[in-house]
Amino acid sequence: MGKLHVKVAVIGAGMAGLVAARELRREGHRAVVFKRADDVGGTWLYDPRVESDLLGLDPGRDVVHASMYWSLRVNLARQLMGYSDYPFLKKGCGDSRDFPGHEEVLWFLRGFAEDFGLVELIRFGHEVVRVERAVEGGRDQWAVEWRRRGGEEAAAGVDVFEAVVVCNGKYTQPKIAEFPGRSTWQGEQLHSHNYRVPKLYKNKIACAKENGKLVFQDESSMYADVIIHCTGYRYHYPFLKMEGLVCVDNNRVGPLYEHVFPPSLAPWLSFIGIPYPTFPAQLSELQSKWVAKVLSGELVLPSEEEMMSSVQEHYQRIEELGWPKHCTHKLEIGKFEYENWLADRLGLPSLEQWREKLALIGLEMLKSSDGNWKDTWDVDKWMQEEGFGKQSLNR
Ligand code: FAD
Repeated sequence: MGKLHVKVAVIGAGMAGLVAARELRREGHRAVVFKRADDVGGTWLYDPRVESDLLGLDPGRDVVHASMYWSLRVNLARQLMGYSDYPFLKKGCGDSRDFPGHEEVLWFLRGFAEDFGLVELIRFGHEVVRVERAVEGGRDQWAVEWRRRGGEEAAAGVDVFEAVVVCNGKYTQPKIAEFPGRSTWQGEQLHSHNYRVPKLYKNKIACAKENGKLVFQDESSMYADVIIHCTGYRYHYPFLKMEGLVCVDNNRVGPLYEHVFPPSLAPWLSFIGIPYPTFPAQLSELQSKWVAKVLSGELVLPSEEEMMSSVQEHYQRIEELGWPKHCTHKLEIGKFEYENWLADRLGLPSLEQWREKLALIGLEMLKSSDGNWKDTWDVDKWMQEEGFGKQSLNR
């Protein structure tokens, strides 16, 4: 039997959505990418705006997608941030550091979209507001409702697809710390999602107000003007109308077979980019290849019952590790089992040893007290010294 070619909606055009579109097209599918913003890049599209509710508690607020702050430099060496056949090169101009600033990543993603002709697949400025199963011509399909904001160009509509791939990112919906007195505290509070530049906070601690006292669990205390909640994010899919078939419970998106397919809806609904910590570009690429090949029939999923048992086994494993439910999509550091499992499904080799080792050393560096490690660590030189050859990214 020949390959099946289907019409697929991809939600998002960040690191995950772009590679999903490429892999779907490579496999012969027709991909339409919905993108709320007017440019590619997702998280890497720096937006100076902050939300009207700095803690992100008001569901009616206008959402700003990116959590990027102005001075951010990547914390994963660029050697680990590219796709398998499209490395994050050091160019003759721009920011050629091993740990460049955020704008360099945006240039990389724009280049990827252009070089693979993906821009023509993207409907810019189209926010997806509803994804729901719909019967069309006697077949189960997906209704994807979208809206386009902005003056005369404002529009709305519904399109029908055979499959939906969700790539909407996981760093937009703040998760805040809850502690007694949080809602009555007089000082300013914000989530790191709404942090952009430091100048607003310059000299503030030096003028602490008496009502700004904070008491810690060990009973020590301090006075502060501002609390910045750096407490992570929630998976959030406000557009999914799934009647309980997939839900988010305490940051567990489930049930999902191998973090990608809801068993009862597979392979027609899938999620890219959920697990962490990992190499986001490479993980999205592996998951996207898997989805594209399952949709075309080249790869086959286990039965729904088998996938559900696998999900239950995974939940059991999380419990055995002593991890809370909200760590369901956390990968065990240093094992790379998930990435290699995906590669194996696809008949690809396991991750190269240099990637694994570089990631682990990078993690150690992050934890170290050396504030200059991003500038003092010559990654290419380190690889040569470690006997991994020169994985040079210079053009
Ligand atoms: P995103 O980049 O968030 O893209 C999601 C896309 O979905 C966007 O295009 C958005 O517009 C779109 N979208 C969302 N909702 C809708 C909707 N309803 N309708 C239509 N479109 C929608 N990774 C690294 O590799 N190295 C780093 O150093 C690094 N540092 C980071 C620092 C910060 C502060 C943050 C927040 C993340 C960092 N990351 C880093 C992780 C980063 O998230 C990934 O690199 C990558 O951007 C994830 O891509 P994504 O496509 O999954 O999500």
